[in-house]
Amino acid sequence: MSTFLFADLSSGVLAAVGFCFGLLIGSFLNVVILRLPQQLFRRWNLESHDILGIQNNTTEEPDVTIAWPASRCPKCGTPLRPWHNIPVLSYLFLKGRCASCSVSISAQYPFVELLTATVFALMMYFYGANTTTFYGFVLTCCLIALTGIDLRERLLPDQITLPLLWLGLFVNMNGTFAPLPDAVLGAIAGYLSLWGVYWLFKLITGKEGMGYGDFKLLAALGAWLGWQLLPLVILLSSAVAAIIGVLAITIGGKDRNFQIPFGPFLATAGWIALIWGDKITTWYLSAFNL
Ligand SMILES: [Zn+2]
Repeated sequence: MSTFLFADLSSGVLAAVGFCFGLLIGSFLNVVILRLPQQLFRRWNLESHDILGIQNNTTEEPDVTIAWPASRCPKCGTPLRPWHNIPVLSYLFLKGRCASCSVSISAQYPFVELLTATVFALMMYFYGANTTTFYGFVLTCCLIALTGIDLRERLLPDQITLPLLWLGLFVNMNGTFAPLPDAVLGAIAGYLSLWGVYWLFKLITGKEGMGYGDFKLLAALGAWLGWQLLPLVILLSSAVAAIIGVLAITIGGKDRNFQIPFGPFLATAGWIALIWGDKITTWYLSAFNL
């Protein structure tokens, strides 16, 4: 099923290669997490003004894209020097502060870089350098970007969730992670299950517990993993979300209407299901003699 590209390299070397590659990709993901929402908010702002026929004053601002302008300090606007773009190391050298105005740099940067690097290293170590691992990298990157954006902005952009869904179906054309019929059912069941929970919750409590982005993300996960792993993803994410929610209310003293984004839990559960899903379900079925 998978073609080995570097079958002769030891798993340790592969893990190291995965780690370095992950650092670079993590650095890029930081830019996506920061700039994609900015780009979307600006576009929505322009469109709403257009629809309502109101003069808008945002057109004069330069449009931010993923590639432009080059990274700069959000406080003083000083462009970063090339060596300031080295993942993690530059953060350590600068002791987490901007070189010119010494405003503290968000710990999100080294965290996302190290997370991506660690996850890539683990996947290379266990699965080797092959096309399946490469597809796994793509899914992982999208999940990390979605988690970061949802935590910052309470938003799971269609620009990531929908292509991720199509890509999952494409990747499973030859059954990379699940047979294609299971992937198609997974996409449908993923969307409908959370959509059902959403309406049930709304009818009972009159509140909105989730957003449509959550349904689309679960649909994408169903397309990648197949419908069989959806119960695991839902159970894992709801259990952890419930624990965090109770902790936030009891320890943090947050009021009960405090909203925790559900996307990060779905993304984490989806990643766990990608790596250990089959092992967990096999264990579960054997433990209960099913
Ligand atoms: Zn600065």
